[in-house]
Amino acid sequence: MAIKIDGKAIAAAVRQEVRAEAEELTRQGMTPGLAVIVVGDDPASRVYVNNKKKACAEAGIRSEEFALPADTTQEQLLAVVEELNAREDIHGILCQLPLPKHLDDKAVIAAISPKKDVDAFHAANVGQILIGDYTFLPCTPAGVMELLHRTDIAVEGKQCVVIGRSNIVGKPMAMLLLHENATVTICHSRTKNLEEICRQADVLVAAVGRAGFVTPDMVKPGAVVVDVGINRGADGKLCGDVDPAVDEVAGYLTPVPGGVGPMTIAMLLKNTITAARSLMK
Ligand code: NDP
Repeated sequence: MAIKIDGKAIAAAVRQEVRAEAEELTRQGMTPGLAVIVVGDDPASRVYVNNKKKACAEAGIRSEEFALPADTTQEQLLAVVEELNAREDIHGILCQLPLPKHLDDKAVIAAISPKKDVDAFHAANVGQILIGDYTFLPCTPAGVMELLHRTDIAVEGKQCVVIGRSNIVGKPMAMLLLHENATVTICHSRTKNLEEICRQADVLVAAVGRAGFVTPDMVKPGAVVVDVGINRGADGKLCGDVDPAVDEVAGYLTPVPGGVGPMTIAMLLKNTITAARSLMK
């Protein structure tokens, strides 16, 4: 049986640290403030936004929600972003994705001040990550690194395989592993011999979005397997990209739920503190 990496417990520890920092900033007269923009009434977005607001409240971060109607125009949305860029009491801005189809998410991300871009999606922040000189890291890959660090798993010199190459997870994930001197392979839907490549991995990160994608025969015995996927199984329950039977082969495994998921919000809180501190200077 693999050792379970308890994302819930590690996220709780990060949130406690964030709370101490938020209290310290508040004592200095600067309560960290996060603005959350949500357009339309997508039920999944509503759940995510509510979770973020609740986490902020628990961590001593002031959050403000900007719930805009589904027919908001691009100009109206950009005007809200501009207003938030200018506000001194708002240190982090995030726009919950996906946006309704008539809106251009790239333009919205580009309009958010890179200094307040707590999702680290702005091209300026992505570039900083590439060169290894960054302020913010995207929350999910940063959360994975935090899980590894706090489990004393070093990746230096190891073969790490990331399945998935999205801008939000796969690509930055690979970059963070590379910055810590891993040898990194990125796999995607056009990869040939994917199973064979995965079997070489000392650390295998699955960010595909397909339930049960990683099967035991794809895993090297004793490997660290990080499951980023959030899917609904045939039974309607939440499940990851990793087949539960991988438990018999892996050395370490992040469960779903309770692995990477809780870390994503914890890292958002951490980024909001970082933003507040850097804007204070
Ligand atoms: P995307 O759909 O943007 O990317 C999925 C990636 O998987 C793509 O690069 C795609 O390849 C690759 N892929 C799809 N099918 C295959 C296949 N058959 N073989 C190999 N590669 C394949 O998803 P995200 O990166 O945004 O998210 C990935 C998963 O992580 C989802 O389940 C999502 O819900 C979850 N997630 C979890 C978070 C958390 O907090 N735990 C946060 C963010 C996401 P290609 O590029 O070639 O199409």
